[in-house]
Amino acid sequence: MHEVVFTQTLSKTEGKCVEKQTAGREQLGKFAPKFAQLNDDVLFGEVWSREGLLSLKMRSILTVTVLVSKGILDTSFQHHLINAKKNGVTKAEMAEILTHVAFYAGWPNAWAAFRMAVEVYKEDDGKDGGLFGLGAPNDAYARYFTGASYLKPLTDPKETMFLANVTFEPGCRNNWHIHHAASGGGQILLCTDGQGWYQEWGGEARELHPGDVVYIPAGVKHWHGAARDSWFSHVAFEPPGEDGSNQWLEPVDDDWYGALEDQRGERE
Ligand code: MN
Repeated sequence: MHEVVFTQTLSKTEGKCVEKQTAGREQLGKFAPKFAQLNDDVLFGEVWSREGLLSLKMRSILTVTVLVSKGILDTSFQHHLINAKKNGVTKAEMAEILTHVAFYAGWPNAWAAFRMAVEVYKEDDGKDGGLFGLGAPNDAYARYFTGASYLKPLTDPKETMFLANVTFEPGCRNNWHIHHAASGGGQILLCTDGQGWYQEWGGEARELHPGDVVYIPAGVKHWHGAARDSWFSHVAFEPPGEDGSNQWLEPVDDDWYGALEDQRGERE
């Protein structure tokens, strides 16, 4: 297989990212120094960088189109898909580009390209917060979370029971915590988007998917959050109760969380 590894170093110029390509020298510096120099300094250094004349996004779209047309769907194509995403080509746009190109470049080529595009864009599913939207960074509770989470209030607590959509970035989860109440209370989670986890202290972790409902009785130590490679959203609310309060405890251990994910990887 034609294996190409691209390495890039980033340098900041006036707030803008300029990518320095070094793959040519790393892969072929000894075997074909001229090719390596042309690749790094001319193709990527002088041509790709002419952003004033044609944007990086447009250059990525062109490159993806040409590679699909030529049937070059190896790791270099994967690199250009990743680059296209980085240069602002959205998932919807990539789907449209490949659909359009399919008629000119060939149906099987588009199929092969889609298989790789699905993988490259997978992590973006649910990034918009899903069904109920993303809301704002959950700054007030950030210290009780590992990774970034977002909160979108859905109801006004002055008017009725408070409901909020909580979105976790891939790998994000909240600390172990307890919803206390003298009676009633606890928490209910309605899962809407992506894949996540729920675990009670001393119990097995439960995989969560859209449509799952979790009832967490008051007084139970637990955590919830996203899977390692997926955004995750749930609507959360506390059922009516007396003397409700939340107690935040230690973070979910990285090794423990990693082991959970590895076990799931083996099951799939
Ligand atoms: Mn909870």
